[in-house]
Amino acid sequence: MTRLAVSILVQSLEHGLCAAARAAELGAELVEFRLDHFPGKVPQAPAQAMALVRRAPLPCIISCRPTWEGGHFAGDEAERLAIFDAVCQSSNPPAYIDIELAAYQRSSPWRRHVARWVDHPGSPRPAGTGLILSSHDFHGRPVDLYQRLEAIAATTECRAIKVVWQARSLRDNLEAFEIISQRHKPTIALCMGEFGLLSRVLAKKFGALLTFAALDAGRETAPGQPTIEQLKSLYRWDHLNAQTHVYGVIGHPLGHSMSPAIHNAGFDHTGYNGVYFPLPIAPEYEPFKATVATLLAMPELHFRGASVTIPHKENLLRFVGECGGEIEPLAQRIGAANTLTVREDGSLYASNTDYAAALDAICEPLDIAREALRGRRVAVIGAGGAARAMVAGLAAYGATVVIYNRTLDKAAALAEQFNSAEAKVVPAPLEKLCDSCCEVFINCTPIGMHPRVDNTPIPRFPTAHGKSSGTSRPVVFDTIYNPPVTRLLREAQAAGCVTISGVEMFVRQAAAQFEQWTHQPAPRALFRQVLRQRLAQ
Ligand code: NAP
Repeated sequence: MTRLAVSILVQSLEHGLCAAARAAELGAELVEFRLDHFPGKVPQAPAQAMALVRRAPLPCIISCRPTWEGGHFAGDEAERLAIFDAVCQSSNPPAYIDIELAAYQRSSPWRRHVARWVDHPGSPRPAGTGLILSSHDFHGRPVDLYQRLEAIAATTECRAIKVVWQARSLRDNLEAFEIISQRHKPTIALCMGEFGLLSRVLAKKFGALLTFAALDAGRETAPGQPTIEQLKSLYRWDHLNAQTHVYGVIGHPLGHSMSPAIHNAGFDHTGYNGVYFPLPIAPEYEPFKATVATLLAMPELHFRGASVTIPHKENLLRFVGECGGEIEPLAQRIGAANTLTVREDGSLYASNTDYAAALDAICEPLDIAREALRGRRVAVIGAGGAARAMVAGLAAYGATVVIYNRTLDKAAALAEQFNSAEAKVVPAPLEKLCDSCCEVFINCTPIGMHPRVDNTPIPRFPTAHGKSSGTSRPVVFDTIYNPPVTRLLREAQAAGCVTISGVEMFVRQAAAQFEQWTHQPAPRALFRQVLRQRLAQ
């Protein structure tokens, strides 16, 4: 069973013990004491290290990473040896020591001492300590990764193999999983950096010896290390197993995407065996195609779907088309898809949950069917991706749409694509918006989005529209969800309009994805609550 180790860069005996106690409270099973910074030279440091191991509330891994292997220890090798010698020879030895392959290979004192400190087939007596022989590369995947692995695995004294490298893309994670699966000795294979999160969380799915977590954000001992709280609460550590289905949001940049919190909360709520990650993929079609194809090609990963956002919505359509998958007709017409579903038979389906979510966000509060949109005059502000999905959905149900956009040519091109005998779609300059006699206004621009929350796309809103629409109240829908109530919505509310927040669209598009993937009803109220909580942080 893969264990969860909290890694602590120890500042003092008290600090190390305090941090280890918190790690135990938070559910860690092991604690790694990184002694790179441990104060004092011989004899203080060895004595303090012994006290640390003796008084720790959890089994320990002791490491003291030198600067030449990406750590902080700048002393000489005799000092490092003295620290390990003290803890390993004490009556309370650590569960593991982590020694760098490079030190082990080039120094006979290390090899001689290690053979005395750890349990191995030729040990004269039980030592109670296992050797983790490790190799780290902070610059990328080492070209001689497999030579290093062979050298580590062939070392008789080594109980566990550890290789860690800086991931260049999500694909590195899959190599880490293969390494874990293929080795006969217990193995730790982890990727560092923004692309390495999968390897850290899914270490459990692939049966690694352990993964490392930080105690708090900002206290990571390696780039990309999640906190124990994130591993346990957000990434569902306690529920992961070999069968767990993997999902994620594909985009670039992903920033602080709300989707992992929402979908993982949904999996928790419904008991679905899934986990959802941020999946950053560099812009352009080639990295998208190569990465998604690699995720799909590993059956043991159980990659079952993804939310797809900027700049890959068009790439998803192209990829699924090239793979011979099915594309939702309206997604094809919109020219963008936001959802990838991998069906049970392995076939692919690309769909767009944005337009349906937007239509329902309008129709449900008005208590009307989508068909009742026929003939209604709707102003869509903006002519980008969100506006395109909106216009396609509205036109499909026969609404009359006026596209107001800063760049009139873009509005005209969009209008031309969706204008038909069934639905009139026309372009208009943004400056004419205040004179509009539409009954529904939909903001599909980022105007008013965090952090520029004082902006609004309709600056003269109250006088222009407050009394303009006869008996029924105008409807104002802002697709922005951060903040949930924009200046546009505040002013529209004050003017007596029906207002709809982008939260409703976001929750509905996520709910539709969740239902496609899990075949279970999505807990929408929970999604709404999680989104609002995250936005308030
Ligand atoms: P996009 O493709 O970049 O399009 C942005 C549109 O806004 C363009 O038409 C652009 O006009 C216009 N625009 C941008 N800045 C402007 C400014 N300062 N003044 C006037 N017009 C401006 O972006 P998108 O993907 O459509 O997303 C737009 C917004 O929709 C996002 O900011 C997001 O808040 C919202 N959205 C919400 C959801 C949800 O689930 N709630 C989902 C998707 C999107 P030009 O054509 O002249 O450049």
